[in-house]
Amino acid sequence: MSKYWSPAINQLTPYVPGEQPKVDNLIKLNTNENPYPPSPRVEEAINNYPVERLRLYCDPDATALKNALAGHFNVAYENVFVGNGSDEVLALAFMAFFRQEAPLLLPETTYSFYDVYCNLYDIEYQQIPLTNGFEINLDDYQQPNGGIIFANPNAPTGRLLQLDKIEALLQRNTESLVIVDEAYIDFGGQSAVELTRRYDNVLVIQTFSKSRSLAGLRIGYAIGHQDLIAGLDRVKNSFNSYPLDSLAIAGAVAAIEDQEYFEEVTDKIIKCREWTTEQLESLGFDVVPSATNFVFTCHQTITGAELMSYLRGNNLLVRHFGKPGIENHLRITIGTYEEMQTLIDVLKQHPDIQD
Ligand SMILES: *Cc1c(COP(=O)(O)O)cnc(C)c1O
Repeated sequence: MSKYWSPAINQLTPYVPGEQPKVDNLIKLNTNENPYPPSPRVEEAINNYPVERLRLYCDPDATALKNALAGHFNVAYENVFVGNGSDEVLALAFMAFFRQEAPLLLPETTYSFYDVYCNLYDIEYQQIPLTNGFEINLDDYQQPNGGIIFANPNAPTGRLLQLDKIEALLQRNTESLVIVDEAYIDFGGQSAVELTRRYDNVLVIQTFSKSRSLAGLRIGYAIGHQDLIAGLDRVKNSFNSYPLDSLAIAGAVAAIEDQEYFEEVTDKIIKCREWTTEQLESLGFDVVPSATNFVFTCHQTITGAELMSYLRGNNLLVRHFGKPGIENHLRITIGTYEEMQTLIDVLKQHPDIQD
């Protein structure tokens, strides 16, 4: 606290990201990073970037990247917005669309940055509980609102909503915007991007951080009706004209161009997720069905806090939220087969786990 802070800053509760440990003997399964490196074409693009050109400002519109994304998703350039990670795209979207009279509706258990943005922008919000099976039931979102946001698949649960459910929501919720955060959609879901061609009340946000192995390069984007993109541009250009640097733009374009590598990596992670799920179930874990690069799981007899610290003591870092209702659940990122084998081996050595 300082007397120089703007008064509203005292009221903020900032988001706390998963730990980025400073030691490197840990197997890091706590922040849903991709265990595989980015496409070799990304390395080539960044290595070949003329450093002399960093003297100049980058392209404020990231034209090359927006064109690459428009081509990839078969939408127009005017339907694409890019930002410094999808967290920034989300922040700009909350500012652009959700400062309304009626409250924003969001799941009670979801990405915990959403209520942080509400707090930052003074947006009233209402949290809608998940079903007992950790599912989002969009029938529960039928009430006057200033907007709706959810992640699909949801985090940290991993559960996927089918597209027809989302389309039905768009048909009845015509007075406010629905944002679908698709950070994990490439690991087994059907994207709502196709709905953006027919509905002007949906914005889809995705990221290069998970399926494209580029969390450190900070690239996110939104796809939607051109009037929505124009709204985002107004906010962005009132805040930071150059959110994506020249290296990020070059690397991101190269990543989009390597579809073959992308499919190979996502496929490996999906198969390893299924293998990990079977292994965990055989050790007495309940595993929520996942369409992501992580599993949300709890053991039938051992508490979440105990498992988290047991794993930590064996150099395995996983995420434990400790919130009511999910206090015994762990969110475990799918790493390489080798890493997941180590996880299973370590769990088998726990005194209360029967192999
Ligand atoms: C990881 C994640 C993000 C943030 O992604 P960045 O592009 O790295 O900012 C957004 N939403 C959800 C649900 C995520 O899990």
